[in-house]
Amino acid sequence: MSTFSAPRGTYDLIPPESADYLAVREAIAAPLRRAGYGYIETPGFENVELFARGVGESTDIVTKEMYTLTTKGGSRLALRPEGTAPVVRAVLEHNLHRGALPVKVWYSGSQYRYERPQAGRYRHFSQVGAEALGAEDPALDAELIILAVDAYRSLGLRNFRLLLNSLGDRECRPVYRAALQDFLRGLDLDEDTRARVEINPLRVLDDKREAVQKQLAGAPMMPDHLCEACKEYHEQVRGLLTAAGVEFEDDEKLVRGLDYYTRTTFEFVHDGLGSQSAVGGGGRYDGLSEMIGGPPLPSVGWALGVDRTVLALRAEGVELPQPSRTQVFAVPLGEEARRALFGVVTELRRQGIATDFAYGGRGLKNGMKSANRSGAAYAVVAGERDLAEGVVQVKNLDSGEQVPVPLDGVVAELRRNLA
Ligand code: AMP
Repeated sequence: MSTFSAPRGTYDLIPPESADYLAVREAIAAPLRRAGYGYIETPGFENVELFARGVGESTDIVTKEMYTLTTKGGSRLALRPEGTAPVVRAVLEHNLHRGALPVKVWYSGSQYRYERPQAGRYRHFSQVGAEALGAEDPALDAELIILAVDAYRSLGLRNFRLLLNSLGDRECRPVYRAALQDFLRGLDLDEDTRARVEINPLRVLDDKREAVQKQLAGAPMMPDHLCEACKEYHEQVRGLLTAAGVEFEDDEKLVRGLDYYTRTTFEFVHDGLGSQSAVGGGGRYDGLSEMIGGPPLPSVGWALGVDRTVLALRAEGVELPQPSRTQVFAVPLGEEARRALFGVVTELRRQGIATDFAYGGRGLKNGMKSANRSGAAYAVVAGERDLAEGVVQVKNLDSGEQVPVPLDGVVAELRRNLA
């Protein structure tokens, strides 16, 4: 132990478990690449106002959870708490929206939120996200949802559910919002919640507390207030999902934590995760571009949590294939053998064979222990006597069989054996 440990609410990804995180990121990215999404990377911090305006002044993320700082130059920055507002900012800044639409991009990276840490909830976590900007088409909403489902399935995840709702648009949402406010004002709520009724009443539906949930029976619900256009749009999304074999549950209380969502809203939940059950979520955000000073740009996207996807896989006992493990392990005995075998190791690696080496000159016994621990199929051992005869010993670590092979032919011989 050093004097330091990882800050509260954060953890280190270390081998071998860290391989699962890479595999999850890769599995989520693969279907996106096949669907024409290009990779985008934005800075880890942004002007704090981007999130205040883009995510919403009344959200927990902006009011409580942002890591903010003032630079020596006086700029007010925030560590990125989510990926969508930065992506929209970047798309507008580089005028991607003036080209072919929709602009389809995906990202992978760290997010920072000052939350109360618990299992599955961290202050530093990672997401893979996808955004399709500049088109209003139910097929685009369906495409993104299907790509997320395909990613989960490709990982072998089974016990996840898709919750689906529509939050209406700027025509019907304000009418619904007012009706909901009327209803909520008549309830017995604490001061904080009453304040929320005035600023962001939809979030009250999301309140997990029993005392609040009990009073919500009979509350007006968004699906009953959708305008014709939103209703038709939502029906089309549902139809496309069903046709693609994607099951979903209609969840009229699904509002999610970010202000910018309109129409299609969805969340993926996993039942093996306890209270932090959301593994991913997203929706349509037709007004976000305008909120941050851009033109109208109807868009849809999602972010899937990498940490919780790994936890969900573990909860289901899914083992991900491990990355290429060592195939050959070289054990030199003495200075001359070290030079000769180091050359063999380098050449094997250049030829695509995963190879490792017994560093530190710790002798035959320790070297062979390391070779066995590495999981390699073959060990290459050489001492002074071998080299004097121009050979090295190639040992099959499964059968224990050992044969001398000419030093200058050992790379070819191992390639043949491993083919
Ligand atoms: P959000 O950006 O809040 O819509 O979250 C999208 C996904 O990111 C969630 O479904 C989680 O899987 C993941 N996520 C959000 N917040 C956290 C957190 N504090 N710790 C770990 N994962 C998180």
